[in-house]
Amino acid sequence: MTSNHPYPNAVLALRQQRIALSTRPFAARGATVERCLRCQIARNYCCCAWARPQTSNVRFCLLMHPKEPLKPTNTGRLIAEILPDSVAFSWHRTEPEPALLALLKDPQYQPMLVFPGQYSEPERVHEKVLQSEGKTPLLILLDATWKQARKMFQSDYLTGIPVLSITPEALSRYRLRSAAHEHQLATAEVAAQVLALAGETDNANVLDAFFQVFSQRYFAGKMKKPAVSDSEPFQYLESITLPR
Ligand SMILES: [Zn+2]
Repeated sequence: MTSNHPYPNAVLALRQQRIALSTRPFAARGATVERCLRCQIARNYCCCAWARPQTSNVRFCLLMHPKEPLKPTNTGRLIAEILPDSVAFSWHRTEPEPALLALLKDPQYQPMLVFPGQYSEPERVHEKVLQSEGKTPLLILLDATWKQARKMFQSDYLTGIPVLSITPEALSRYRLRSAAHEHQLATAEVAAQVLALAGETDNANVLDAFFQVFSQRYFAGKMKKPAVSDSEPFQYLESITLPR
């Protein structure tokens, strides 16, 4: 893997697993493009140099639709770049991974399922991140299309978990995918919204800026436009020094 960063990325690890499991050679849309193995953008447009890993008092748990880690447009990866402590699991309706179930039951965590509150029983819904004494908030993100996420939300093993409500209106900025997928949950944007709710404004800004850098580079690559880096989110990330 070509990478400037020494730490592993949970989503990329899951991606490798999915590729190893598939019986046919995997061909994503635009598979002929030579991509950076880390950010999955056409190599000349790679945005990895702007990743600024941070630490957080919350932990993200990405529950990914099995197809999601393979998509170059997936933004769950960006969360794992900025918060390397994030974990990622493949979603299964009836047979969840034992490691996921163990994490959900681990007493050192307070799990919360991030989803628009209107789809849940009202007593389960919270507007703020639950801060329980001695527990780290474990924020579960459903990384999938909107249609898939609604199905995943109904999984038996998720039913008792408190819901951290997010506003679907805030999810509409994501335009990487075609109009047919306009209800795609922009997972990195949701995570930035959640970080802001948890009071971690700096982390929210870093993730949001990296999402914008990713989007701009992805589009520039797709449209064969120059790979510029003079806009505000690039400059903001450049102003943050990387840990040595
Ligand atoms: Zn890259």
